[in-house]
Amino acid sequence: MKTYLVTGGAGFIGSNFIKYMLKKYKDIQIINVDKLTYAGNLENLKEIENNPNYKFIKTDICDEKSIKNIFKENNIDYVVNFAAETHVDRSIQNPNIFIKTNILGTINLLNCAKASWETQNGFLNGKKFLQISTDEVYGSLKSTGSFTEASPLDPHSPYASSKASADLMVKSYYDTYKMPINITRCSNNYGPYQFPEKLIPLMIHNCLSKKSLPIYGDGLNVRDWIYVKDHCTAIELVIEKGKFGHVYNIGGHNERTNIHVVKTIIEYIHKNIDPSVTENLIKYIADRKGHDRRYAIDPTKIQNELGWKAQTNFEIGIHQTIRWYLENKAWLEHVTTGAYHDYYEKIYNIR
Ligand code: NAD
Repeated sequence: MKTYLVTGGAGFIGSNFIKYMLKKYKDIQIINVDKLTYAGNLENLKEIENNPNYKFIKTDICDEKSIKNIFKENNIDYVVNFAAETHVDRSIQNPNIFIKTNILGTINLLNCAKASWETQNGFLNGKKFLQISTDEVYGSLKSTGSFTEASPLDPHSPYASSKASADLMVKSYYDTYKMPINITRCSNNYGPYQFPEKLIPLMIHNCLSKKSLPIYGDGLNVRDWIYVKDHCTAIELVIEKGKFGHVYNIGGHNERTNIHVVKTIIEYIHKNIDPSVTENLIKYIADRKGHDRRYAIDPTKIQNELGWKAQTNFEIGIHQTIRWYLENKAWLEHVTTGAYHDYYEKIYNIR
């Protein structure tokens, strides 16, 4: 029975990954380590909380004693490191916590895994450390081309820079110690359980509560969207078959401008849910500082080497996602009370 140490498993992608894996495999064990920041929510994991193959431990990935202990008490085979501060706007306001969690937290995990897995003859077989990274480490593209694994790292925001730094540390543990690692760099995820500070759930939430829809700059920034379940299947494959030391880009060839995404959401809600929701809700606001213009991921390597392909077309995935938020209004209400309001007003300066 393989044991996965999943960090940040109470967040958006981590919780989708844990549920996907426990549904598919009856013979694995998952230990979820999460600090439960504003973005971590155990409600995301309700359906598996009593699964005997699942255990939750509330702790910080930066806590050396606690992480060491987890390795001592469990025979960990795989580390899947999702835990991170993830919101670019927050990193612009306060970069420090991004440095602490995203860089120092990753180094702590690397050290604890290395201490537990390394022998005099090298690393134990069947172990792997997977760093979940992002296309944002590559920086911004002009109107054509896409990022390959060979593209230079050129991050712009404090968030992207902290993720790029962590990637380089993970790579260095392979180059220096031959530690069994992989790094995945995925494009923008969307789907159920995403905290409504990110574009898609924010716009759905605002449409449903008839609030203005803040769009940065001219709205023509391009992001390459992937449905979260497709990201989960890619991660599963990289753990199983990824070549040690390799980076794998993950993307679904779904480039859309932000304004297109927002208009797609408005159109669906207008037609199917509330005819009073129209483009009049759109409000253009001053651009985000250092806003990357375009991201696009070339996933040829993972397709050719590991046989992975994204299955979800954007138009289908976005409609599924809107319906999920509609059917889970209680979840949305729980995560948007209290501190959320203060944050929202501070960032967008609108109600
Ligand atoms: P999220 O913000 O929804 O979740 C992050 C989780 O990490 C939360 O549960 C939070 O409580 C936890 N966490 C934060 N600091 C911690 C700490 N110090 N110790 C333990 N837990 C901590 O993020 P997400 O969107 O699910 O992203 C997960 C990972 O995937 C991140 O590493 C992110 O960089 C990467 N990624 C995200 C996207 C995307 O579009 N969301 C795209 C590519 C890569």
